[in-house]
Amino acid sequence: MDYDAVIVGAGTAGLSAGSSLERAGKSYIILDRKEEIGLPVRSTGAVSLEWVKRIGMPTDSSIVASEIMAMDFRTDLGRHIPLKFDRPVGLVYDFTRYEKYLSEEFAGKLNVKLRTPVKSIDGNTVTTDNGSITAENIIMAAGPQSAFGQKLDRSNVLVAYEEIRELPKRDDFQMILWFSDLAPGGYFWDFANTDDTRKVGVCLYPVNSQQPKAVLDRFTEKFPEIKGRMLHTMAHQIPLSRPSDSVVSQNRLYTGDMVNAVLNTTAGGLQGAFWSGKAAGEAVAAGDLNKYQATWDSEIKPWLMKHHVLHRKIHKNGAKSVNRYITLAKLMPKSVKKQVFGGL
Ligand SMILES: Cc1cc2nc3c(=O)[nH]c(=O)nc-3n(C[C@H](O)[C@H](O)[C@H](O)COP(=O)(O)OP(=O)(O)OC[C@H]3O[C@@H](n4cnc5c(N)ncnc54)[C@H](O)[C@@H]3O)c2cc1C
Repeated sequence: MDYDAVIVGAGTAGLSAGSSLERAGKSYIILDRKEEIGLPVRSTGAVSLEWVKRIGMPTDSSIVASEIMAMDFRTDLGRHIPLKFDRPVGLVYDFTRYEKYLSEEFAGKLNVKLRTPVKSIDGNTVTTDNGSITAENIIMAAGPQSAFGQKLDRSNVLVAYEEIRELPKRDDFQMILWFSDLAPGGYFWDFANTDDTRKVGVCLYPVNSQQPKAVLDRFTEKFPEIKGRMLHTMAHQIPLSRPSDSVVSQNRLYTGDMVNAVLNTTAGGLQGAFWSGKAAGEAVAAGDLNKYQATWDSEIKPWLMKHHVLHRKIHKNGAKSVNRYITLAKLMPKSVKKQVFGGL
């Protein structure tokens, strides 16, 4: 065999798996069809600091675009719940720098081969445009739209669209989420970025063939405070289904968006991708693939399931039920409120 493992995909899950293998001194190669690590930008990059620390994601200041100390959850029916903290509770990564850091500095320089689309996988053989590679194990980290993954149910996939807009830094909140019936199943967001730009976007279940850009434009007309010249755009899918039950099949380990490792409440998948990639890499390094399934069953999946169930409840009746949850949240004692929202 050429390698202990081939990793398909150099996003968060694949780079995290590669970091585990690099640290364990195993032979591996990460293959990706893209031209450059971190591009195109794939994510807003917002993560909870508590979870980042718990699962060992990087927090180096060179990859952090902004820290979140104040956030506001709003509905367009007029309810909102502002939360201010005396310390950062979240981070927004500079996404390109974050992925480059994972591939070059986090665990040392990883063995990544770019511009290499994987065409087929058969047993221990991975075939690319440039020939075949053999490996004991294959770590699948190819994202939500991969032909090698499960076929995702369209009704459980959010479409997400974001624009970096020229807008002044806000003094009040670094993160605003608006729940609105214009964005069924999802929300609109306004996140801090640089001093003169903010990340403004929407994720929603695609209904009536609505284009997310058109929805964001309509929302912007309603809330001119997020109106600004568009500098960059990004669009992708976010799987919001129940997390997979089985993540290991023969010599293949499935990670990240491929197994719906996405927190359904926030549509955040970076932490699930990182954690599942790390656990898959550690299992391969230990020579015990079932170790990954065991970590998934006992730690990763229960965490994802909590968010999955809550998301179903919150969005049951659109913005009306979000309104109700905000009313309930307002009744929580301050300490509980900070614990719940600070730990998301
Ligand atoms: C607009 C938007 C905003 C988001 N914001 C956030 C956020 O703020 N916080 C958060 O936590 N999550 C966010 N997410 C979700 C998060 O980005 C994803 O869950 C996460 O990137 C998934 O990581 P992954 O490694 O599983 O897949 P990906 O990051 O998609 O990586 C998959 C990689 O596989 C490669 N690949 C695919 N097929 C092949 C092939 N055949 N051959 C070779 N290479 C292949 C791709 O090129 C890609 O590099 C957002 C998503 C979107 C769309």
